[in-house]
Amino acid sequence: MSGSTPAGAPESPAGTVLFVAGAGRSGSTVLSRTLGLHPDVFAPGELRYVWDQGVLRDRPCGCGTEFSRCDFWQEVGAAAFGGWSKDVASRAVTLRRAVDRVRHVPALVAPRGRFRDHVLEYTELLSRLDAALRTVSGASVIVDTSKEPSTAYLMRHVPGIDLRLLHLVRSSQGVCFSWSRSVQRQDRAGALMARHPVARTAVEWDVYNTMVDGLRRLVRPSMLLRYEDFISRPGEVIAQVLQLSGSSARSLLEPDGRSVDLPLSHSVAGNPMRFRSGPERLQLDERWRTEMPRSAHAAVLAITGPIMVRYGYPLRRGASVATVG
Ligand SMILES: [Zn+2]
Repeated sequence: MSGSTPAGAPESPAGTVLFVAGAGRSGSTVLSRTLGLHPDVFAPGELRYVWDQGVLRDRPCGCGTEFSRCDFWQEVGAAAFGGWSKDVASRAVTLRRAVDRVRHVPALVAPRGRFRDHVLEYTELLSRLDAALRTVSGASVIVDTSKEPSTAYLMRHVPGIDLRLLHLVRSSQGVCFSWSRSVQRQDRAGALMARHPVARTAVEWDVYNTMVDGLRRLVRPSMLLRYEDFISRPGEVIAQVLQLSGSSARSLLEPDGRSVDLPLSHSVAGNPMRFRSGPERLQLDERWRTEMPRSAHAAVLAITGPIMVRYGYPLRRGASVATVG
């Protein structure tokens, strides 16, 4: 449950990666950017996409500058690899496709043979990237919001990191509604974020969350967090997540206790919210309650209902998410 506090999380050693796992559109961008306000924490966004979105396609960093012109990422590339190389990035994308897919999760528990060779080669690149991010940002904790369960399983094999797992869950109705809507991309003019039909997202929500449930038993310390609890009790939840990452306690909220003041970020990929800066009120997007067609809502609950109950979500459309203390 969301109340599963990270009891016994050791103090912050160098090399901590707080990996946020779960379904896409679960609110990880606003959560990680909030955590990034802590001086010991750096939030580079969805790091698994640095090779293709950053190096190969030169999409804009969260600071608004193209990847190849962002000083921060150029410093990271220099520290990690003596400079970014399209050959290394292409190889990394090939390796990622070979090892980092949902269907590979069973093999990732204990990799063997040629698959293991690919895991070792890819995780060596991730290890160098992680160390460089730490050096250039000066942070001791890197928050990676890649979320894919296969990436989360893969992270267990990255040498030289101390992995902490944050399983972020958002109600299936909110996730499915978000994936069904048209959202403008900020990094490609005229392009829209991917859209998926609700039934497909609902099945994915079940699969992803069940896989991450399994990983929480393998990674210690770990924590299950409902996005809705972060929004309703941000101060308390931030304190728990900082404890999970081994960071010192610190208030990251504005005096109203409900909002954050975000600087420009150097995030490499993720939700368009990564480009915003300035005051940001932490609030739930619950448009699904009024805008989601009845039939779609029924389909989502038919597919995800049993797992929703496991996370303590009410299934009636009008019911608010009970706060788990
Ligand atoms: Zn930047």
